[in-house]
Amino acid sequence: MNPTETVLVIGSGIAGMEASLMLSKAGKKVFLVERLPLIGGNVIKTGESFPNMECSTCLVAPIQQEILQDSNIEVLTVSDIISISGKAGDFAISVRKRARYVNIGACLGCGMCYPVCPVTQPNNWEQNLVEKKAIFVECAGSLPNVPVIDPALCLRLNGGEECNLCMEACMFGAIDFSEKEEILEINAGAVIVAAGFETIDAKEIENLGYGKYPGVFTAYELERLLASNGPTEGKLRMRDGETKPGRVAIIHCAGRDKVGYCSNVCCSYSARHAHFMKEKLPEVEIFDIYSDLCLPDKHYQKLNTEIRNGTSSYIYQSDIAKMKIEELEDKLLIQYLNEQEAEVSLEVDMLILTVAIKPAAGLEELADLLEIEIDKYGFIKTAAGEIGSVCTSRSGIFVAGCAEGPKDIPCSVLQSEAAVAQVMRLLES
Ligand SMILES: Cc1cc2nc3c(=O)[nH]c(=O)nc-3n(C[C@H](O)[C@H](O)[C@H](O)COP(=O)(O)OP(=O)(O)OC[C@H]3O[C@@H](n4cnc5c(N)ncnc54)[C@H](O)[C@@H]3O)c2cc1C
Ligand code: SF4
Ligand code: SF4
Repeated sequence: MNPTETVLVIGSGIAGMEASLMLSKAGKKVFLVERLPLIGGNVIKTGESFPNMECSTCLVAPIQQEILQDSNIEVLTVSDIISISGKAGDFAISVRKRARYVNIGACLGCGMCYPVCPVTQPNNWEQNLVEKKAIFVECAGSLPNVPVIDPALCLRLNGGEECNLCMEACMFGAIDFSEKEEILEINAGAVIVAAGFETIDAKEIENLGYGKYPGVFTAYELERLLASNGPTEGKLRMRDGETKPGRVAIIHCAGRDKVGYCSNVCCSYSARHAHFMKEKLPEVEIFDIYSDLCLPDKHYQKLNTEIRNGTSSYIYQSDIAKMKIEELEDKLLIQYLNEQEAEVSLEVDMLILTVAIKPAAGLEELADLLEIEIDKYGFIKTAAGEIGSVCTSRSGIFVAGCAEGPKDIPCSVLQSEAAVAQVMRLLES
C-alpha cells in the first residue's frame, strides 16, 4: 500500500481514538498503537466527566466500540514503537507487539479465568485500591474485554511451575502460552502522537500527608470510588470500604508549585467531585481549599457558581507550601494560612488532593526515538511554540491531546481534529 494511505497514531486515549476515527472516515488505513491492554486512556478512569456531567463510560464506550469494529483501524494493544526512519509521507516504523497470552479472537470475556489464578498484585489502574490477579482485565468494562497475563508474575511463564488453572477454567480454549512477541514493520505517511499524561506521585507533596494518613486520597482514587465500575461500585467510602465520610476537603493545586504550571482541569473536576459526592451522600459536608481558581471556557464558571451555592464551602488559603496535615485519632486536621496570614484549622474525615498533571511516563524516550523536541516541562513541543500549532519539530509528526500539555476532553478532541487536518493536507498534497 502507498504509505500516504496509512497513518500511525500513538496512544488510544480520547485524542488518539478521535483522530483514528476521523482518519478512517477520510479513507486512511490507521494503526493505533497502545501500550496498555485496553483502549480509552485516562477518561475511562473518571466516573463522570464535565462539562456535561455525563457518565464517562457512556461517552467513551461507543467510540471504543466503533474503533474496534472499524476495518480501517488496526488496534495494536500491549504495543510500543521501537524505531522510526524515513521522512514525511514515507516513514518506516517498527512496533513491538508483546504477547497477551490470550487469543483475542477466541476469548468471550466471560471472566472465568481470573478468580482461579493464585497470584495477586496491586491493581494500579484502580489506583491500588484493590488487587488483581496475574491474569486480569484492568476494570469491569475494559475494551477489548479480553484479559492479559503478566508474564513477570505468572507462575507458569516466570516461575517454571506447572500451573494450568486459568487454562482449565477457560471453556473456549483462549489461553495461549505459545503466543510470542511480534515485531511489525509499518509504512506510514504521517504519525500523530497522542500519548497523554499522568499525575505526579502525591507522596512527593510531603506536607499534604498522602501515603502517611489513610484518610488522604488522590483525585483519581476518588474517581474510582465514585465510578459505578470501580472498587466500591460507586459508593463514597473510606479505605475500609465501609465507613462513610462526614466531612471532606478538596485541596486544589496539589503539586502545582512542583511542576510549574496550572493543570487546567482540576478546579472544574473538583466541582464535579463535590456535585457527585453530595449526590451519593447528601449529608456529607464539603470544603474546597484553594489559592487560585482556573475556570477556563464558557461552561466552567457556571458549574463553579452552582457548586459554591450550597454544595461546597470555598476556603481561601494563601500558601500551599505552609499547609500542614495531622492525624487526630480518626480525623485529619488541616492547618492553613488565611487571607490575613492567620493560621486556621479545619477537621475532616477525608482529604482529596487534586494532584498535578505531568507528561506520561516514557514520553521523553518516545520523543527521542521519534526525533521530536519536548518543551521545558517535558510535553511535546509544537513547532509554533506557545501559539497553538499541532505540528512538532519534525515534519510529518503531529501531536494531539495532553501529550502537548494539560487540557480537558473538548480541547483534546479539538487538537485531534487539527492534527487530522494537518495529516490530510500533507498526504493529499
Ligand atoms: C482526575 C482527573 C479528572 C478529569 N476529569 C475531566 C473531566 O471531567 N472532563 C474533561 O473534559 N477532562 C477531564 N480530565 C482531563 C482528561 O482526562 C484529559 O483531557 C484526557 O484524558 C486527554 O486525553 P488524551 O487522549 O490526550 O490522553 P490520555 O487519556 O492520557 O490517553 C493517552 C493514551 O496513550 C497511551 N500511551 C502513553 N504513552 C504511550 C506510548 N509510548 N506508546 C503507546 N501508548 C501510549 C496511554 O496508555 C493512554 O491510553 C481529567 C483529568 C484528571 C487528572
Ligand atoms: S498459569 Fe499463570 S496466569 Fe494462569 S492461573 Fe497460573 S499463575 Fe495465574
Ligand atoms: S480467556 Fe477464557 S475464561 Fe478468560 S475471559 Fe476469555 S473466554 Fe473467559
